[in-house]
Amino acid sequence: MARVNEHYRKLAAGYLFPEIGRRTREFQQQHPDAQLLRLGIGNTTEPLTPSVIAGLHNGVDQLADRETYRGYGDEQGDLDLREALARFYKGRSMEIASDEFFISDGAKPDSGNIQSIFSLDSRPAFQDPAYPVYVDTNVIAGRSGPYNPDTGTYERFIYMPCTKENRFIPELPSEPADLIYLCSPNNPTGAVATHDELKRFVDYARDRKAVIIFDASYSEYIDDPDLPRSIYEVDGAKQCAIEINSFSKFAGFTGVRLGWSVVPKELTVADSDFGTVHSLWFRRQTTFFNGASNIVQRGGLAVLSDAGLQECGELTSYYMGNARIIKEGLQEIGLQAYGGDNAPYIWMETPGGMTSWEFFDKLLSEAWVIGTPGSGFGPSGEGYFRLSAFGHREDISRAVDRIQKRLTL
Ligand SMILES: *Cc1c(COP(=O)(O)O)cnc(C)c1O
Repeated sequence: MARVNEHYRKLAAGYLFPEIGRRTREFQQQHPDAQLLRLGIGNTTEPLTPSVIAGLHNGVDQLADRETYRGYGDEQGDLDLREALARFYKGRSMEIASDEFFISDGAKPDSGNIQSIFSLDSRPAFQDPAYPVYVDTNVIAGRSGPYNPDTGTYERFIYMPCTKENRFIPELPSEPADLIYLCSPNNPTGAVATHDELKRFVDYARDRKAVIIFDASYSEYIDDPDLPRSIYEVDGAKQCAIEINSFSKFAGFTGVRLGWSVVPKELTVADSDFGTVHSLWFRRQTTFFNGASNIVQRGGLAVLSDAGLQECGELTSYYMGNARIIKEGLQEIGLQAYGGDNAPYIWMETPGGMTSWEFFDKLLSEAWVIGTPGSGFGPSGEGYFRLSAFGHREDISRAVDRIQKRLTL
């Protein structure tokens, strides 16, 4: 007699994006002429750049010829891609060996799967609000108690509130934590941790033999040269941190699918030696995953070429131009807006103490603009609202114009 994994039943209903869809459809049915502008989902919209397209074509062409055809590749990812990543980090003064990189099909799978190499009684700590994958995958693994709908939290999990009082950078966990999930630049708040703020977490993790799981998916959106784009810019981080990153937001690969994780060999936990955690992730990936597409890895290599980096820099600058338009546009009409300086998300405070969902309805009905209610990312997101800069410039400008002209405050 088979039974389902009971932990799935504990998951709070995945309600955010379906509910946005439901309210949007309902509004559109009642107002068929309304041209809605979507600043909700964090999905890229601009095309891949010329060098990257050439790299992908090259990957296809290699498969057309017996001499260059390849089937399964190296389990950790193509060596030339891993070496290019090692050079990319070295260009920023970090020494990561090519065999400490694991190429994957994206940061979402890696950030969800990484927990499987740690003991089930490890206590995880999460930023609140956060990208939902970290919490949900730990629930599915069985690390949580039941969900409490009144507090919006799971028993046994540690939440690290990110509020305007702490500039959306969390304090250290309030109870002893074993797995610490950090995302900087942050989705949804757009906040970026400084070197000193990351160092506090690195020192904590080294003291406790805890592990930091650092999601750096938005690293290439950092403009300010003083802000760390990798946790390994902090001394000692290789002993305690796994970094997860992706070509999705960096190069527009959201639909192409390519990412990487760094698991340093010197990372150790309470019951492991040098190299153990690294070899467990190798084991996990070789058991469950058969490598990223070889075509797509050619595209990733092209991203890391001089021309590719230049072009992708222009791509991220384009979205950051959108972010500036949104943030300044909101501030001009007296709204409180955060983030958006080194991250493609604007995190605004809802006006007049409205709930996140009340503001969603107001923005939709008055300005015909769709955003994301902050409460969907965790209890501390209540009273906030996320606007994404991943749109075409003309749509962003029209949305801001409508917000300024039509939103009654
Ligand atoms: C978009 C996003 C990802 C997903 O990356 P993929 O590589 O497309 O799977 C991971 N983490 C955060 C915080 C994101 O916003």
